[in-house]
Amino acid sequence: MSKPILIVGGGPAGLAAAHSLGSIGRSSILVEKEDRLGGAPILSGYAKLVPTDEWAKDAIGGMVKRVADDNSVQVQTGATVTSFDGQPGNFNVELSNGDKHEVEAAIICSGFTHFDSVNKPEWGFGTYPNVVTTTQVEQMISSGDGVRCPSDKRKPKRVAILLCVGSRDRQIGREWCSKICCTVSSNIAMEIREELPDCHVYIYYMDIRTFGLYETKYYWRSQEEFKVKYIKARIAEVTAEGEKLIVKGEDTLVKRPITIPFDMVVHAIGMDPNVDNPEIAATFGIDLEEQGFVGVANRYGAMGATSRPGVYVAGAATGPETIDDSIAQGHATAMAVLTDLKQPVGKTA
Ligand SMILES: Cc1cc2nc3c(=O)[nH]c(=O)nc-3n(C[C@H](O)[C@H](O)[C@H](O)COP(=O)(O)OP(=O)(O)OC[C@H]3O[C@@H](n4cnc5c(N)ncnc54)[C@H](O)[C@@H]3O)c2cc1C
Ligand code: SF4
Repeated sequence: MSKPILIVGGGPAGLAAAHSLGSIGRSSILVEKEDRLGGAPILSGYAKLVPTDEWAKDAIGGMVKRVADDNSVQVQTGATVTSFDGQPGNFNVELSNGDKHEVEAAIICSGFTHFDSVNKPEWGFGTYPNVVTTTQVEQMISSGDGVRCPSDKRKPKRVAILLCVGSRDRQIGREWCSKICCTVSSNIAMEIREELPDCHVYIYYMDIRTFGLYETKYYWRSQEEFKVKYIKARIAEVTAEGEKLIVKGEDTLVKRPITIPFDMVVHAIGMDPNVDNPEIAATFGIDLEEQGFVGVANRYGAMGATSRPGVYVAGAATGPETIDDSIAQGHATAMAVLTDLKQPVGKTA
């Protein structure tokens, strides 16, 4: 009888991998370190998702239910993998809760960590209560409380969204583009305008990367239908005067300094490598790529291959990814695992 496949992380990628395996009768052990499944969209309380406009609690909640109802998936929440030894087809796994398992292969779906904005102190997060992150605004919307200034719960009349916070920033060692935050920010801007029609929303950007088909639905629609204003700028600092926040910088189109007051400033935070990655790499004996995400050993010939045969990776563990791409990778990697197990496992070409 075949042994289960180990899946590490119960976000969109891990949920997709577990569902794929279960749908063809293969068992899996899904190890999630938090107390519930769903990954960032559920744990961080995202609101309506890009690009479907479905609420995260419904869309990803549905994926969680499908896995929770599947007897072939053994879910272990509040646990991590502490040791992983053996060969493809026959690995021994130990978990932090003391459980031991034999598995045939492992799929790492441990995702990313949100950039912590305190690492960009000149932009006011952690100093001024009304400087918040996109995840906080998502939570304000998904909780039903609405977008309010945290200091006194007033409705903001002017909101600035600063893009690329913790991304494309060599000064703080984060050179990558986090891929989804331009689109998410345009979406949030429209949601604010919808809830608070008198509120002026400005997006400060270096470049706009509402990639692919998102250009029309988010970038143009947010301007033409929702009157969101875009300023191409280099931001110097966020300070305060009374209850107003002051965003200072340079308008890089007209090459002039600009200083504009706001009630709320939103950091469009990027996707960092999972803080657990050094530990995950040591436990599983796999390589990380230079920026700290899990390394992909073969982009074309072997889906999700890492540097160790029998250990695979999917989703935002490999770098900034959207939810739909993470889900696609979860499904595809489950298929790659089964293909390799039928043939010599870990085949990389
Ligand atoms: C503000 C913001 C808004 C976004 N909105 C959208 C959107 O609208 N649409 C979209 O397509 N994308 C969006 N994204 C991107 C989206 O969050 C990712 O694409 C998605 O979460 C990736 O799924 P994943 O399963 O790979 O990783 P994650 O969602 O990060 O899930 C990883 C899981 O692994 C668990 N884990 C981590 N380490 C361990 C460990 N050591 N052991 C066990 N478990 C572990 C975590 O607790 C988590 O449950 C947004 C991103 C940000 C920052
Ligand atoms: S998607 Fe947009 S906000 Fe996010 S890092 Fe890339 S350019 Fe910056």
